[in-house]
Amino acid sequence: MTYDVAIVGSGFSAIALTINLLRFLPSSASIAVIGDDPGFGRGTAYRTEFYLHRLNVPAARMSVFPDRPDDFVEWLRRQGRAAFAEDFASRGDYGLYLRDTLASLLRPRERRARVDFVKAKATACVQCESDGLVFCLDNTGELKARNVILALGVGNADLPLPKDRVDEAARPRIIENPWRLGWLSRVGRTDEICIFGSGLTMIDQVLSLRAQGHRGRIHVLSRRGLVPHPHSARRAAPVPPELPESREISTLLRALRRQVDKGADWRAVIDGLRPQTQALWQSLGTEQRGRFLRHALAWWNIHRHRIAPEVFTRFDALMKDGTVTVHAGYLRSIEKEGSGASVHYRRRGRQDIAAFHADWVVNCTGMERAGIGHSPLLTAMRDRRMIAMDDLGLGISVDPQSRVLDPQGRPQPGLFAAGALTAGQFWEITAVPDIRVQAKALAETVAAEIARRAPPYARIA
Ligand SMILES: Cc1cc2nc3c(=O)[nH]c(=O)nc-3n(C[C@H](O)[C@H](O)[C@H](O)COP(=O)(O)OP(=O)(O)OC[C@H]3O[C@@H](n4cnc5c(N)ncnc54)[C@H](O)[C@@H]3O)c2cc1C
Repeated sequence: MTYDVAIVGSGFSAIALTINLLRFLPSSASIAVIGDDPGFGRGTAYRTEFYLHRLNVPAARMSVFPDRPDDFVEWLRRQGRAAFAEDFASRGDYGLYLRDTLASLLRPRERRARVDFVKAKATACVQCESDGLVFCLDNTGELKARNVILALGVGNADLPLPKDRVDEAARPRIIENPWRLGWLSRVGRTDEICIFGSGLTMIDQVLSLRAQGHRGRIHVLSRRGLVPHPHSARRAAPVPPELPESREISTLLRALRRQVDKGADWRAVIDGLRPQTQALWQSLGTEQRGRFLRHALAWWNIHRHRIAPEVFTRFDALMKDGTVTVHAGYLRSIEKEGSGASVHYRRRGRQDIAAFHADWVVNCTGMERAGIGHSPLLTAMRDRRMIAMDDLGLGISVDPQSRVLDPQGRPQPGLFAAGALTAGQFWEITAVPDIRVQAKALAETVAAEIARRAPPYARIA
């Protein structure tokens, strides 16, 4: 059979797309969701069971429906949680909310489009002679669809450390994919840990270690040694940004700083910017976008991607009592030392080399950019000239309607993308409040496309 729509991916983007397609497609339509993740719809972010793995966005902004903002808060209340709009719920609960919401939309079978969940990895894709695209799946042959939405996320592949810096004998003590949580069970109670990267993934891992009884020292190493800021317990109302006409990134950032110097709460200024971030990004040239990524990204991340106050309090206490030490510097080498490793690094702004011992080295530098190289499917599509990387390598080229562009910049009929893959076009498109808006718009576009192509009698019916 040929599906009307195939969604490739099994995280939040795929679930939000499915939910919206069910709202907009007629009951005669068919949807296939191809995903290789066992916890469908939960992705890396929402499959956790640990209560301190919290959302970093207040519950009031996490509804899967942009036009029904209370949906998640109401779901929490129906589960008997004392939930408030500004609470930072657990990510595990959020995964359950997504599963429940989808399940409730799937129940009335006769009144909705057909949905088939195909547990497989899509490995390649070719254009059909007649109409649509055919996907090769790693376990069930092929799947054909007239419209396709790529919702692959940033990928959760291993994050290899540079080969020339690592003594092969130390390899067994290096964890290149912290999301395979099995590694935690191999850690001894007093083992010393080195974590590369000082962002949200690092904080997740530190709290998971402590929760399972780990009491050893933890060294965190990142180029700047910057750690995410907390949300404030009492959220100030967002302040509209006072931006100049200039589209120079340094001038824009200076204007924001000036607003804060004049007395505005910095969190309120960042939050006020958020509704405009996509439009602002789209109005910048490639050179200015590149400058932002090179010079401001680390600071942007810690101010923009803040953590729940309770999570910060726990983490901060570990820094204050000396359990966690954050180092700013550059990795020089990892050498075998005893049953573990010694980690050598150059301190930021200095020439001398420092070192510490670690029984385990964990790479939490994260996949900030989707790119193409990590995905055999995207690599195959690029080689067939069906997709192209965006100018800055953040993801793939799409137009403002999320239509995938070929290397000549032409929209590919029936081929769309969602989520992190579209960061080159939208930048702010990796979190729920933005993806849900994109998912609704995409579902409407695809539904209109299907209605346009349907034979006239089907439209009348
Ligand atoms: C630890 C963590 C915490 C986060 N917390 C928050 C938060 O509190 N609030 C917030 O708004 N955002 C948060 N985020 C951002 C989060 O990425 C988004 O909210 C959202 O989960 C992104 O979903 P996605 O579907 O686009 O990507 P993903 O969740 O990465 O899902 C993509 C899925 O596609 C599958 N896939 C990839 N390639 C193929 C293929 N070829 N064939 C089949 N399947 C494939 C992958 O296995 C994966 O399951 C967090 C992210 C992480 C990692």
